[in-house]
Amino acid sequence: MATTHKTRMLIIGSGPAGLSAAIYGARAGMEPIVVQGLQPGGQLTITTDVENYPGFREVIQGPWLMQEMQAQAEHVGTRMMWDTITNVDLSGDTFVATGDSGDSYEGDTLVIATGAQAKWLGVPGEQELSGKGVSACATCDGFFYRGKKVVVIGGGNTAVEEALYLTNHATEVVLVHRRDSLRSEKILQDRLFAHPKITTVWNKKVDRFLAAEDGTLRALALIDTETGEQSELLADGAFVAIGHAPATELFKGKLAMDETGYLIVEAGTPRTEIPGVYAAGDVSDHVYRQAITAAGAGCMAALDAERYLAEKLHLAGFTETVQY
Ligand code: FAD
Ligand code: NAP
Repeated sequence: MATTHKTRMLIIGSGPAGLSAAIYGARAGMEPIVVQGLQPGGQLTITTDVENYPGFREVIQGPWLMQEMQAQAEHVGTRMMWDTITNVDLSGDTFVATGDSGDSYEGDTLVIATGAQAKWLGVPGEQELSGKGVSACATCDGFFYRGKKVVVIGGGNTAVEEALYLTNHATEVVLVHRRDSLRSEKILQDRLFAHPKITTVWNKKVDRFLAAEDGTLRALALIDTETGEQSELLADGAFVAIGHAPATELFKGKLAMDETGYLIVEAGTPRTEIPGVYAAGDVSDHVYRQAITAAGAGCMAALDAERYLAEKLHLAGFTETVQY
């Protein structure tokens, strides 16, 4: 039977943003509910080594970090729900989300932390070699390619920025693009073309990623988009940089978003245009996209939510808060 779950702080998403909001919300006595979605723990659960999350001297594993975050959130009083939200109603005083289980969730405040997903090419070898040479995040994985040769696939700002970033680590960076011109900003293109470590390969699409005997990436099989000619490009690492898709379908027509679908927040805050509704992490950040920045935004959302509710209760003359 469908149940209605009520809370002072409803959080959609269980990545670093959602779980950090939950930790702060729970410690502020807001008894948060986190609806986890199809990827409990978020994007870090599909990677292996994480070396840039503060507090850990040794390399840690992404799935382990997210298990710890969830355990911490539960320890301080968060309720975790195995459900995926399919509809939201942000028009009332209470924000209502409906799950595909049929249950509904009512929050006095709402933190949207649904994240974003890197777009992948969808070619053979890509999934199998993910974390073994194929990546979608240079900031995350570039460090592992010190002194090596890497390939970046794509022709937008992300691809060019990733290629430039990778020159800090790799000895050789090859940008592979399916056309003969980039769509990235001119200033980035100028930097790319002037960089001595970077070469460009035009009019080539990746047909498949090829593994070495030890199961790591060996090469990319390419096809010329004009002649159909096939070739192989040897590489130690390949970074797919063809864009990201924020998980904001649910909020179309309900919250402001930019032309690529990221939720728009007040600069430097997680506040959306609806008081009491916050967006934290990759769902509203196409620039930094890191676990630590998502966690920071989740913390800010919970602090704002707590202050918003306190002020609302104060204005309404309430002396006691409702226990859910
Ligand atoms: P996400 O982690 O994307 O979590 C989104 C959450 O929302 C998920 O739990 C999902 O199930 C949920 N959700 C979505 N839609 C719904 C719905 N309708 N209903 C309910 N729930 C929903 N960052 C680093 O700092 N260091 C690294 O080393 C690093 N490595 C990475 C490696 C890989 C392969 C990838 C893909 C990313 C990596 N990142 C790394 C980036 C980092 O993972 C993200 O920046 C971070 O996870 C963003 O956190 P988030 O909470 O905003 O969203
Ligand atoms: P993007 O601008 O959409 O570019 C994606 C690139 O990937 C395009 O060059 C596209 O090729 C290529 N591509 C897409 N699908 C492909 C496929 N299946 N196979 C091969 N190539 C494929 O994405 P983005 O670079 O991530 O940028 C997204 C938005 O964020 C943009 O508005 C961008 O300006 C912004 N952004 C800004 C900055 C900055 O200001 N510093 C940094 C990063 C991103 P085609 O060109 O042939 O379509």
